[in-house]
Amino acid sequence: MAKVFITRPIPEVGIKMLKDKGFDVVVNEVAEDRPATKEEMVEALRQAKGEGKPFNAVLSVLTEKISAEIMDAGLPTLKIIANYAVGFDNIDLEAAKQRNIMVTNTPGVLTNTVAEHTFSLLLSIAHRISEGDRFNRAGKYNAWGPKMLLGTDVSGKILGIIGLGRIGSRVAHHAVKGFGMKVIYTDPKPNPEFEEEYNAQFIEKLEDLLPQADFVSIHVPLLDSTHHLINEARLKLMKKTAYLINTSRGPIIDEKALALSLSQGWIRGAAIDVFEFEPEITPELKELDNIIITPHIASATEETRNKMAELAAQNIIEALEGRVPPNLVK
Ligand code: NAD
Repeated sequence: MAKVFITRPIPEVGIKMLKDKGFDVVVNEVAEDRPATKEEMVEALRQAKGEGKPFNAVLSVLTEKISAEIMDAGLPTLKIIANYAVGFDNIDLEAAKQRNIMVTNTPGVLTNTVAEHTFSLLLSIAHRISEGDRFNRAGKYNAWGPKMLLGTDVSGKILGIIGLGRIGSRVAHHAVKGFGMKVIYTDPKPNPEFEEEYNAQFIEKLEDLLPQADFVSIHVPLLDSTHHLINEARLKLMKKTAYLINTSRGPIIDEKALALSLSQGWIRGAAIDVFEFEPEITPELKELDNIIITPHIASATEETRNKMAELAAQNIIEALEGRVPPNLVK
């Protein structure tokens, strides 16, 4: 009987799919709501091997760093690591390749939800929603005022997308169709069909996009080449009235530089769902009113988390039944 290790409880629908296939499924029930540690994962894999019932698959979540050491603990039976996320920067891909272990992700099923969250952040920072909420709760609302908490219109403004992939293009769709925004974008791969359909403009260099955009939204994967893509020098290229939105990965922004840019007025505001040293948040950011910080919940709807569980389970089923899983990461 094939055996699957799930590093952290995920929605039941995915677990059921694996059990319905007759797989032996072990869910690592961590005491508190926290990621499994490296030691816990290595121990679980080694112990199963020692008992003669080794694991064939690991279903991991993005908070866990899946290193060569963990993979070795699962060898020689470990065939697949199915990540419960579209990003896979938490997995040592090179180590997996060397060990002939397949790695899969969950693309597509969360695109719409993350795009919705991105747009919620964009509208909320422009219309000062969180700030207004805090203002009310602090008992500061004494009378309506013509100049109270003035924000910025979104309609008709320029949105700069960094990374026009699945999520970036969905955000652009909402911007153009819903709010009459003009979209400019940068990506190593230009998309002429998209430009045609949305009257969007490709800008080759990030340095040329930043000074033009009223809102900048980041949708690139975390790679060596995208680490600190937004740094002090690039923040200084943005308009003083512009807003920065990030729902991709935290280390793409130099967080200290972001805090400085917001306190010094290099840009007007920011709204981010991901952090450079997650779950730690640079303390200066928490002191600022012109930033919204959500705790990495851009894909957190019941519907989407269920679909992610189904897709991760499906990848495991395909791999363990000898077929190529649909979302193999190469
Ligand atoms: P995708 O692969 O479809 O799109 C990524 C795009 O970025 C591609 O078009 C790629 O060509 C482009 N790109 C790569 N390097 C670039 C660079 N240096 N400059 C400009 N563009 C570059 O991925 P996706 O499904 O749209 O997801 C994007 C990212 O969003 C994921 O990698 C993941 O890390 C993140 N994400 C976060 C959450 C969350 O909960 N906050 C949820 C889902 C995805």
